[in-house]
Amino acid sequence: MNQWIPYGRQDINQSDIDAVVAVLKSDWITQGPAIERFEQAVANYCGVKYAVAVSSATAALHIACLAVGLGKGDSLWTSPNTFVASANCGLYCGADVDFVDIDPRTYNLSVDELEGKLAWTDQQGRLPKVVVPVHFAGQSCEMERIAVLSQRYRFKIIEDASHAIGGRYLQQPIGSCSFSDMAVFSFHPVKIITTGEGGMVLTNQRDLYEKLIRLRTHGITRNPDLMQGESHGSWYYQQLELGFNYRMTDIQAALGVSQLHRLDEFVERRRFLANRYNQLLQDLPIVLPWQHPDTNSSWHLYVIRLKLDKISKTHRQVFEELRLAGIGVNLHYIPVHTQPYYQKLCFRVGDFPKAEQYYQEAISIPLYAGLTKENQDTVVASLRNVLV
Ligand SMILES: *Cc1c(COP(=O)(O)O)cnc(C)c1O
Repeated sequence: MNQWIPYGRQDINQSDIDAVVAVLKSDWITQGPAIERFEQAVANYCGVKYAVAVSSATAALHIACLAVGLGKGDSLWTSPNTFVASANCGLYCGADVDFVDIDPRTYNLSVDELEGKLAWTDQQGRLPKVVVPVHFAGQSCEMERIAVLSQRYRFKIIEDASHAIGGRYLQQPIGSCSFSDMAVFSFHPVKIITTGEGGMVLTNQRDLYEKLIRLRTHGITRNPDLMQGESHGSWYYQQLELGFNYRMTDIQAALGVSQLHRLDEFVERRRFLANRYNQLLQDLPIVLPWQHPDTNSSWHLYVIRLKLDKISKTHRQVFEELRLAGIGVNLHYIPVHTQPYYQKLCFRVGDFPKAEQYYQEAISIPLYAGLTKENQDTVVASLRNVLV
């Protein structure tokens, strides 16, 4: 058997380690100067005004929803082809969650479906308050069209860009919030850059930024201008709303700053490997990832779809045989509405058939910055073995 090749993994070098050690030896290990440096660096990279570092993208999505006032009686829509966190954030706020089926070419939320569903729910007076487009695998959704719909139907847009730091849309960095209210990144180890655990919310709107900062730390402010009545003195703080401890540590932020220096190199490497897969796999009975011309993916994932009518094996057999051969294939994603918890909320198998069909055929094959050409050749040879 080959050595195990995972579908994704972090890339930590000596300068990353040195950056973390330097913080450990300093006066601050949480919410100190490294947090501000990381926030500033990401904001500069993305060309956005404000950035708020938090403990995970899940926390980031939660406070982003709270910042736009999502609550009971409201609804949040997202893609069924995502990690559960993109939908759970709506439930945390007491809102209802619903889904918009995917575009079978990009596997992102379909803007045609969105448009149809908006027109239909408008007649019933049940428009969503928030839409969460997920930039699946690092490829941006069609944000310009979604932004036009948000004007017409008055919903807020929170981009779940967990896969997509380093990607571009219409030449602009993902995270610039040119077509959204906020965007969220994840720094989990399988994502493009990592802080161990970590996330960030980006926005160009000052009022949202101030809310996000407060929600990250218990709803507390130390700014006298925002207080009710007079400050009692320099020790004084007020809790203005119900927030959380969603802080990132300085240890993590230092790793983030160091990783951000390497981001372009990581994305370039992922792109190189994706193009190489495109070449090496083109004659196999599979559908290769399609790219919308407006996008430039960060290539978090490389997803193939099996042409099951041209293969004598089932999806599951192909998956298991690849794993037996040491290829750490994975499946992104089990449609969220088919999860038992969402079934209890009255969703049914069959509700979003394109995402369900995709799930029957999709396989994520290994792709990460540290994947060598030899590893990649092993993946390709194993696929060929299993498929033909
Ligand atoms: C990873 C991921 C999240 C959650 O990120 P965490 O940082 O692990 O909380 C949310 N949405 C998507 C699409 C993800 O891939």
